[in-house]
Amino acid sequence: MQFERISHPAPVPGKTRAEAIANPGFGTLFTDHMVTIDWSEDKEWHNAQLAPRGPLTLDPAASVLHYAQEIFEGLKAYRLEDGTMALFRPRENAARFNRSADRLAMPNLPEDAFVAALEALVDADKDWFPTVEGGSLYLRPFMIATEAFLGVRPAKEYKFILIASPAGNYFKSGAPAVSIWVSDYTRAAPGGTGAAKCGGNYAASLVPTREAFDRGHDQVLFLDAAEHRYIEELGGMNLFFVFDDGRILTPPLTGTILPGITRDSIIDLAREEGLDVVEEMYTLDQWREDAASGKLLETFACGTAAVVTPVGKVAGHDGEFTIGSGGPGQLTSKLREKLTGIQRGTAEDTRGWVMRLG
Ligand SMILES: *Cc1c(COP(=O)(O)O)cnc(C)c1O
Repeated sequence: MQFERISHPAPVPGKTRAEAIANPGFGTLFTDHMVTIDWSEDKEWHNAQLAPRGPLTLDPAASVLHYAQEIFEGLKAYRLEDGTMALFRPRENAARFNRSADRLAMPNLPEDAFVAALEALVDADKDWFPTVEGGSLYLRPFMIATEAFLGVRPAKEYKFILIASPAGNYFKSGAPAVSIWVSDYTRAAPGGTGAAKCGGNYAASLVPTREAFDRGHDQVLFLDAAEHRYIEELGGMNLFFVFDDGRILTPPLTGTILPGITRDSIIDLAREEGLDVVEEMYTLDQWREDAASGKLLETFACGTAAVVTPVGKVAGHDGEFTIGSGGPGQLTSKLREKLTGIQRGTAEDTRGWVMRLG
């Protein structure tokens, strides 16, 4: 796909940028450019642009504003030791983006176009790469329904947009383990949109997330909608449980869990470590019992933003319990190091996960 390049009339001055990327935080700082591609029934994908980042012009009747026809992705660009920019398994994001599109009745974007958009933006804004230790350029591709129409049916016009945000470490390596709140709300029901990465899932998770924060926890945990017994995932991260017999368990992809690319990578890396990885349902009651008996050694959450994060404490309406010593476990730290090593090019990439750019 060819992108029309629209030059920026007034990019952020170098000195201002340098100060910003020395302390980027997470999700509040943005680069100079964005990619946009339009879709209509007659032209399909067209009007691909790499343009100055700026506000969108949207009709107030655009269906995304009324019926939440929206999907997104999240991945990071890394700078390898030799200075080359790289992406981690971007084709997996492209494929998942299209699976989400299918569920939300939206058009598919060819995987090559998705990856070309990432390459074009990272190339244009590589000077925005954070200068802090553990920094990355967080990439946010998304698609919205732009047709001005209030009837309820899939829209006939869409816009794909890609923006980039320089990001620091979400949770610092060696940071204390997170505390999680087991919600009475549910995130996803059988037959719903739980496996799609769509804004609607997140909108529904905000009240439970606020409840977790208000009670002093870092994250919210959702149980299954049907029986309210089985552990599914956190608001935006998948979970793994490490046992004393060399087993490591993660809930299966039953359609109500988001199939994380970090989850998939961890399964591979854990198998390489000689662990017996099982994808099985696991109840909250069993988790509490196994933590008390010592059978369960570690629990960690994983996702692109925070990579691998230890879970130290679990609380819900029927009490709380601690995992292991309440701090980061050995295997959690080892898997985190392995994964970040591959992503940042300090460990060998035997699987072709790292895509070097330029
Ligand atoms: C994005 C996301 C994840 C993690 O997926 P990664 O591909 O590992 O970043 C987990 N759960 C939910 C609900 C998500 O939206």
